[in-house]
Formats: sequence, structure tokens, C-alpha cells
Amino acid sequence: MSGSALVHVSDVCKRYRSQEVLTGVSFQVARGECVVLCGPSGSGKSTLLRCINGLEDWNSGEVTVDGVDIAANAHRRGHIGQLVGMVFQDFNLFPHLTVLDNVALGPRVLLKEPSTKASAIGHELLERVGLSGHTHKYPHELSGGQQQRVAIARALAMRPKVMLFDEPTSALDPEMVKEVLDVMRELAASGMTMICVTHEMGFARNVADRVVFLTDGCVCETGQPSDFFSCPTTPQAVKFLSHVL
Ligand code: ADP
Ligand code: MG
Repeated sequence: MSGSALVHVSDVCKRYRSQEVLTGVSFQVARGECVVLCGPSGSGKSTLLRCINGLEDWNSGEVTVDGVDIAANAHRRGHIGQLVGMVFQDFNLFPHLTVLDNVALGPRVLLKEPSTKASAIGHELLERVGLSGHTHKYPHELSGGQQQRVAIARALAMRPKVMLFDEPTSALDPEMVKEVLDVMRELAASGMTMICVTHEMGFARNVADRVVFLTDGCVCETGQPSDFFSCPTTPQAVKFLSHVL
């Protein structure tokens, strides 16, 4: 896979003061692949996603996306945004902007698209996530599930090569989880490369091409969902699955 992989994470180590949070993480994600990243709380999943998105620096190792060295380009947020889109647990929408402006802002300001083109991109993506009737509302006027779908559209507006999701449904009321997972499923089916941290094991089973299981800051086990769920090979994965399934 290494030749065609879109995302390369090689031996990434990160410390917060004396605490080793990532202890040599290596894995690759192929173009078009949907990977579910799972592991116990505190295993380093969010830290790893923030490294891949250049929001966090690290001590050693390398991350490249489509051949671009993320550490060397982390300060170029517009450039990173065109490589890596990220969706957070708590949506992180701009509260003072309309739904449409939340989505159109990146294309207009970072990609320097004319306003009309940026708006057209926004309308198209909001239709794709099922929110065409809500473009002029503000985030607080939407449900959590709707806000998260806006956040997905906003990330997509930068035309990223890979989308990262950090527990995108964890802050949602149960009845809103499905509408967000459905958008993610559609995205995966469309060929988007995705790395998803989620506790939704149904999504992992049915949508992911591969599961990467993290413990204590490194990859403990990786495999196809059918193998990972039916016969995990490490005691750590067996224990984790006994809690989440
Ligand atoms: P996960 O997302 O798997 O729950 P995190 O990446 O959030 O794990 O955290 C991994 C470890 O790093 C935890 O022990 C956490 O307390 C620590 N950590 C995360 N962010 C910080 C920070 N900004 N400063 C210090 N320690 C942190
Ligand atoms: Mg986390």
C-alpha cells in the first residue's frame, strides 16, 4: 500500500511535558479508504488526529498527506485545509455567521474564490448534507445533528484530500446520531478518504474498510472490521471490545 497511500504516519512520538502520549505511531491510509480509529479513552486518538491536521506539533516522526510534510506546512492553514478536513465532537461552528457563511467562508477567504462561487459551493454542499432549507439560519437555531452536518459541509468546502472525524456523534442526542452517520456513510461511498474516531461500532463494522486500534499511544492492532470484531488478536483489543460491544 505504501506507494499509493495518501496518508503516511511514521513513528510519531509526542510528549506533554513528561507524559508520552504518542509512543511511535505508524500507519497508512490508502486513497479512498475509510479507517475507523478506536481505542480506550486517553489512548491518544484525538492527539493523533490533531497531529495529522497540523493543529498539534510533535517530538519525532513524520506525517505526510498526499506527499506534503504536515509539520513543515502546519502554519499554512489554507494549504492544510485543502489537504485535511476535520470535524470535531462539539461542531465548532462560527456562532455569528449564518449556516451558508460558515460553509462559504473557507472557499472565499482561504481559497480566494469570488463570493458568488463560494456561495454556490456552500449551497451545493448544504444540499448534499440535507440542509438546503436552512442556509440563512444561525447555528443556534439548528439541532446538534444539523450543526454537525454543517460542520461536515464546511470541512468539505475546502476540497480536502482526507477527512478526519473526532467522535462526531458523541455530543448528540441519540435520535440525531443516525443523520450524521448517514452523511459519513455517503461520503465514504463517494470515495472520500476518511479517518474516523468513533464509538459507533455499527459504523465501524458496516462502513470502515479497516480498523486501527490504538492503546497507550501506539497502534496495537489493525485489521478488517470483520476480523477485528470477531477475532481480535491482542488482549487489549479483547478487553476494549468487551466494553464497547
Ligand atoms: P483520546 O482521544 O484517545 O481519549 P487524547 O489524545 O485526548 O486521547 O489524550 C491522550 C493523553 O494525552 C491523555 O492522557 C490526555 O490526558 C493527554 N493530553 C491530551 N491533551 C493534552 C494537553 N493539551 N496537555 C496535556 N496532556 C494532554
Ligand atoms: Mg479524544
